Amino acid sequence: MAPMRLEIITAERVVYSDDVDLLVAPGMEGELGILPHHAPLMTMIAPGEITVRKEGEEDSYLAISGGFLEVMANHVTILADAAERSDEIDEARVREALRRAEERINMRASDMDLQRAVAALQRSQARLRVVQRRRARPSPPPGQS
Ligand code: ATP
Repeated sequence: MAPMRLEIITAERVVYSDDVDLLVAPGMEGELGILPHHAPLMTMIAPGEITVRKEGEEDSYLAISGGFLEVMANHVTILADAAERSDEIDEARVREALRRAEERINMRASDMDLQRAVAALQRSQARLRVVQRRRARPSPPPGQS
């Protein structure tokens, strides 16, 4: 099947822009799989992980902090608060953010603080999962990096 265009954009930069065969994104009610020529769609997405398949292989993993996904004319646009490719994620920073979020949740401050701490926890958990995928991925044979 001919590919579709995927663009993942934040206020600061274009994080990903390429032709892809499949996209799996974190929908509000579970995973959302999008294939080429999907019907037009506009929906919110949750903090989580994005998997991209290209030329028959899993190509990229990205962490996303939530946003909007739009499908129109074989073009998928994701507008996100923050998004990082697996190779961009600083693992020590995620672990520190995770620790801080857990600490804030355990303090049981006001509702507002709790909501923000839970959102920070979700972003960190998504980043950590994507980092772990980077580590789990087999390295390419010598000479094929
Ligand atoms: P932190 O407390 O470590 O800043 P955060 O969840 O509050 O984490 P965000 O507000 O979601 O961070 O993101 C702020 C900016 O920093 C965004 O551009 C995001 O892509 C980037 N960013 C956040 N965490 C990491 C990380 N672990 N590695 C690389 N970039 C990150």
